[in-house]
Amino acid sequence: MEKTLIVANWKENLTATQMESWVAEFSIFNFQFSNETRVVICPSFVLISVLKSQVSSIQHQVYLGAQDVSKFEEGQYTGEVSAKMLKDFVSYVIIGHSERRKCFGETDGDVAKKSILALKHGLIPIVCVSNLEQVSKCQGVKVSKTIFAYEPLFAVGTGTPDTPENAQEFAEKIKSAVGQDVRVLYGGSVNAENVKSFVSQPDIDGVLVGQASLEAEEFGRIIKSLNH
Ligand code: PEP
Repeated sequence: MEKTLIVANWKENLTATQMESWVAEFSIFNFQFSNETRVVICPSFVLISVLKSQVSSIQHQVYLGAQDVSKFEEGQYTGEVSAKMLKDFVSYVIIGHSERRKCFGETDGDVAKKSILALKHGLIPIVCVSNLEQVSKCQGVKVSKTIFAYEPLFAVGTGTPDTPENAQEFAEKIKSAVGQDVRVLYGGSVNAENVKSFVSQPDIDGVLVGQASLEAEEFGRIIKSLNH
């Protein structure tokens, strides 16, 4: 059986010092986590390699992800980080987060290009979508190897989550559209109190957590609340 995925998206938060404290705090009580969950942490690019060396102190295996990837393979694209560079450090990459679509003008075409390159280099794309049209625009992407994260715009970073029933309905529609094997996460104001209501839905395979992942204790409580 596939593990339940719990993905932390730190966004543009946490310095190296703050991250060190986070890891120390998280390490203290993580022995209580279930083996049926897979934890993925997505820090900013600059913290990835430092975090990679620090997560070995965490007893429960933690996987790393990036928050974005270049749509170009390599070359004269100042400031970009390619999938080929990332693959030595992370297993997952978040693509098309609504904040990137809104603040950086990322298009469905960009999301598809990024996903194709991520898969080419062995990374698992976590493609964020807020409607079914965005799912259908993943043209050329091997969707069976892709994770979709349903993130309704009204729920991201607002403290107002969607209902588990709506999230389930959307997840079911994604699976009907692209295949039953695809994994679907829910994201949007997930916390330790509501996480179980989402993950207990038949078509929701995990969660993407922003704000509530910034505090190690709260993030730990989210994971612990899924112990079987
Ligand atoms: C996110 O970053 O994808 C997210 C869902 O944020 P939050 O949990 O803060 O709503």
